Amino acid sequence: MDKKIFINGGKVDYDIIRRKIKHPRLEFKTGKLILILPENYKTPEKIIEKHLKWIQDKLEVIEKSRLCKLNFDRDENDLKEDIFRFVSIYSEKMELVPGEIKFRKMKKRWGSCDNKGNLKFNTRMKYLPDKLIEYVVFHEMGHLLEFAHNRNFYDIIFAEYPEYKKLDLELSIYWFAIYSHTNNFKDSDN
Ligand SMILES: [Zn+2]
Repeated sequence: MDKKIFINGGKVDYDIIRRKIKHPRLEFKTGKLILILPENYKTPEKIIEKHLKWIQDKLEVIEKSRLCKLNFDRDENDLKEDIFRFVSIYSEKMELVPGEIKFRKMKKRWGSCDNKGNLKFNTRMKYLPDKLIEYVVFHEMGHLLEFAHNRNFYDIIFAEYPEYKKLDLELSIYWFAIYSHTNNFKDSDN
């Protein structure tokens, strides 16, 4: 189902997906607004209204991503080396060691940490500047101390990266830039 709304005088396309969930949520991971709604949810317009500021911020990020310069000098092996290097730096600093470290292309996130302490990183991080790769590594290693994205977790992040909100914003700009560059994540290179 393809629908449109007008925001700031511009046309914004969106899709509605119905799922067996309790609360509606919005997603923008593909550069297109997706409303994920409970099966009997009647008023999608209200959810758009309620999150208008969030939607406007995302549109701004997508706009900025057009000017974003990707790093094409790093291949996947370089990325792995860099990530292992940052992991070992933080292992020493934080006095903890993660489980296995894996790499794969991911469509929704930069990295993840499972409850056994294994870390997984998105190979599309190769297009990021060093600083952001290091930051993502620290984020995932932070989950070895605190699994949830709660206050405690963000205190850990803040202690190392007081500017973490700015870095998160940069990461979302890169997210959409990489999305476009890889033809909507349909790239097949390794
Ligand atoms: Zn996280």
